[in-house]
Amino acid sequence: MHVFMVPYGQDKRNYMYPSRNSPCPSGVRVHVGTEGSCIRYGMIAIDNIAEGEILFTIPRECLLHPDNCSITALLQQGESELQSESGWVPLVLCLMFEYTCADSKWRPYLDLCPDRNQLDLPMFWDRETISKELQGTGVPDVVYRDVENICHEYHSVAVPFMKKNPEYFDLSVHTLELYRKLVAFVMAYSFTSPKQTSESAHEESVDDDAEEGVDDEAEDVPTLLTMMVPMADILNHVAKNNARLQFGQSRLSMIATRDINKDEEIFNTYGELPNWQLLQMYGFVEKYPENIYDTVDLPLILLREHLEFELDDHLAQAKWNFLRDTEEMLDDNIIIGLDGILNKWETYQTLKICTMTSADFKKLETSFVDEDLDEEGEDGHIEDSLEELFSFDGLMDLPSPWRQLLMVCATKHLKSFKNTMEEDMMLVSEENSTCNASTLNRRQKYACYLRIGQRKLLVKLMQCLK
Ligand code: SAM
Repeated sequence: MHVFMVPYGQDKRNYMYPSRNSPCPSGVRVHVGTEGSCIRYGMIAIDNIAEGEILFTIPRECLLHPDNCSITALLQQGESELQSESGWVPLVLCLMFEYTCADSKWRPYLDLCPDRNQLDLPMFWDRETISKELQGTGVPDVVYRDVENICHEYHSVAVPFMKKNPEYFDLSVHTLELYRKLVAFVMAYSFTSPKQTSESAHEESVDDDAEEGVDDEAEDVPTLLTMMVPMADILNHVAKNNARLQFGQSRLSMIATRDINKDEEIFNTYGELPNWQLLQMYGFVEKYPENIYDTVDLPLILLREHLEFELDDHLAQAKWNFLRDTEEMLDDNIIIGLDGILNKWETYQTLKICTMTSADFKKLETSFVDEDLDEEGEDGHIEDSLEELFSFDGLMDLPSPWRQLLMVCATKHLKSFKNTMEEDMMLVSEENSTCNASTLNRRQKYACYLRIGQRKLLVKLMQCLK
């Protein structure tokens, strides 16, 4: 086992140690620095590492979160008034306090908190760039919602609490701007795990490496804890990662998930995230075809528009209401991944009902008594076959009106992006060519990668529907 303990309390820049040129303590297999990293800081293997090896561990005392900071008692007292939709207010207040406290023990860690230029999340982009570059990708709506929520939670939850506790907070220092910066830090650097209960903490002596997780038998959904994890958060992400963080009872361990060669960058996973979500939360995307978790959302509003065009108003409205009221269509989109449609049941119900004749729909409406549309009905047995039917290879077997409907929506959606595929491919090839100076800035580059990945999936869908 090769353990690299976080030399906590030192400046992170000092723990770019061991450097490539300096002798490293025996057992240390990794190096933190900018050299060899895909962006800013990253972790590099300084030796061959075997799958399953522990790269470093972090004792739980080193984690920064509301239950482990200088104002834990204050935040616990205010627990009920600090509740909010995001659940992040206590953590952001804890970070605001530590960040502005000169002698905070978290000072060296927080000194590395990236500024807006480094962490250029779309929440900091101007509206014009967002709507122009990202139209059709689904990102604008979620970013506008984030920006609004952050502002709302600051004014309605954080400010009243800070005003009540002037010995800890000063509104001229703990401003909305600082709040936004630290929300971005949480978005791009935090980790979430089930909260440790006093019982689970006691069990740690039994098996310290036991991974904390959800007990299948447990009836209660575990409370999740969002926390800052120094050192683990220096690792960059790729979908095809080679390491992952394991949450043990008393410590967290970064484990190699495959053999890693000397000089390779060590990549964690931030989750099985599509590019649009990587951009929203982390400010980057992976270039096609690297992100094996990429998806594109086909907005159901397109389908609704088509229904309204094809059917009489009353029938279109009735079908739409039926889908909503019976909760068969909770998603706002048909989600397409690398192997086909992901939300199969919702898509199945939606296509079936949208393409029904008026007479069949009336029959369905009158026979519908239970909330569960298909508890006893013919669809009760179909769920298994949906797996195959909604994979790309199975789409050809869908009834023709269903395929047509999907095709109409995909064709429309394809036109909603900025540029054509050819124009975007051209921009990327210029970007890669050594003779041309890049025509794209960072925002434009990631937006272009995002559009290409999403359009590839739409095109694949359309090919399989023909
Ligand atoms: N490189 C970061 C640093 O120097 O502080 C450490 C990783 S931090 C948890 C996450 C941020 O790193 C992201 O918001 C993004 O800016 C960057 N990042 C991580 N993986 C990346 C990748 N594959 N490509 C580009 N940027 C990446």
